[in-house]
Amino acid sequence: MKTKLLLFCLITTLSFAHEGVELGPNGGRILEFSKDETMHGEVIVKGDLFHIAVLDKNMKPVTMNEQTLTAVTGDRAAPQKLTVEKDAKGFVIPVVKAGEWLILQFKKTPETKAITARLEYNTAICEECSNAEWLCKCKPEAEKK
Ligand SMILES: [Zn+2]
Repeated sequence: MKTKLLLFCLITTLSFAHEGVELGPNGGRILEFSKDETMHGEVIVKGDLFHIAVLDKNMKPVTMNEQTLTAVTGDRAAPQKLTVEKDAKGFVIPVVKAGEWLILQFKKTPETKAITARLEYNTAICEECSNAEWLCKCKPEAEKK
């Protein structure tokens, strides 16, 4: 019950968050796994799985030990929990449906507060950079000119 309510609040508030696309050393999508840029997740797709590598402030792999991740997808009315597996580099979860949101909650240790990160798995191809929109390389700065 508590989890469901929390999730609802989370999705509601984050709908207004700014969406900036940052790409990592392996061409994956960078998500913020900390409040101060010291921990990141790099999301890549292999087959029908998302591989989420956990990276430090210099975008270098971290040793996986106590980190945990929960993942949900689907809409607010019916969030669907995804199975999260842990590997040497980070986490592995099933790919969500095109156009759906992936909402992650990362914890560095069981004692730390969960950090929420999310991405819209928009697989439409960007005309400018020819990448899928969720991996779009176009810099937001370019729009300001
Ligand atoms: Zn683009």
